[in-house]
Amino acid sequence: MSTPFGDPDLVIVGGGPAGCAAALMAASLGLRSALIESNNIGGRLHVIGALSNVPGDWADGPSLAQALARDIRRIQESGHCTVITGRATAVSADSRSASVTLADGSTVTGNAVIAATGVASITPAEAGWISAPADLDPAPLWRARPADLKGRACVLGGDRPLGTWLRAHPDVQRQLLVVHPATDDYKTAEVQQDSRAQLRRARHVTLNPAPCGGYIVDVEATDGSTTAYACDTLLTNIGNRPAALPGLTADEDGYCPSDSQGPLIATAGDLRSARFQRIVTAQGSGAQAVLSCYYSTAVRATA
Ligand SMILES: Cc1cc2nc3c(=O)[nH]c(=O)nc-3n(C[C@H](O)[C@H](O)[C@H](O)COP(=O)(O)OP(=O)(O)OC[C@H]3O[C@@H](n4cnc5c(N)ncnc54)[C@H](O)[C@@H]3O)c2cc1C
Repeated sequence: MSTPFGDPDLVIVGGGPAGCAAALMAASLGLRSALIESNNIGGRLHVIGALSNVPGDWADGPSLAQALARDIRRIQESGHCTVITGRATAVSADSRSASVTLADGSTVTGNAVIAATGVASITPAEAGWISAPADLDPAPLWRARPADLKGRACVLGGDRPLGTWLRAHPDVQRQLLVVHPATDDYKTAEVQQDSRAQLRRARHVTLNPAPCGGYIVDVEATDGSTTAYACDTLLTNIGNRPAALPGLTADEDGYCPSDSQGPLIATAGDLRSARFQRIVTAQGSGAQAVLSCYYSTAVRATA
């Protein structure tokens, strides 16, 4: 696939904080980038209701996402960036160039690729402690609005967004049935005093659609006893997995550290590690990935 300026210096996959910071840093160095994004510029910023750890007095994620979208429009207008709307399916590199393949079969080739695809929610079918139909893909809790909760609501998993969601919605009085493995105990501890969270530790959970709508949630407790719950709303809160693209080198947890990739491929943001999943670290790593590419011969030679 050609861009308005032919092959770009950099192909950046993912338009979250990491990918946007990479595109902006590239433009500031006079490099031209193609930014591939399957959804909205801003990534997960769009779901963050309140911010307190990002310098610049940003009140919430969407306002920062809008500012990043303005930044990207500015470097598009100056001819330093082109945004390609599409889903990347693989990355590859040879000794001279690096490419990204898109779901429509086209490829975008540049002197280097920066992958900043973040993380994706683990689906019930991917969790070892849940048996569920393969096509069952409930919405994640962190994206749910109070109005989305109909009837009895069941949350699968006790990951940290549970506490965040309850704190963000102090006026919601309904109870959430939270079934979670024992390995989530240290995370559910923060909501144990909140009577809205009905915590049920489970050894195994079997999900099935109910004949009249909703779901039947069969919970096998850690003592072997079983209880069936009928639920109208099902939400996942199981955790995340790295949204790694084929062609990247992953560690045993599936994360893709930048220094494990080849010379023409770098990674940035949440995709790198479970430990540094924050906006500012994502932005810093995106900018750093560009500078690393810039100071390597691959990109500087054409700049
Ligand atoms: C509910 C919630 C609250 C949070 N609160 C805070 C907070 O208060 N402070 C803080 O510092 N951090 C917070 N975070 C974490 C923060 O959002 C992330 O660390 C940050 O967004 C990571 O940026 P990123 O660019 O690496 O990934 P993302 O923001 O996830 O962006 C990745 C982008 O890549 C795109 N993408 C993925 N796969 C493909 C593909 N195959 N092809 C094309 N595009 C693709 C996605 O659409 C997305 O736009 C929160 C996260 C959540 C979910």
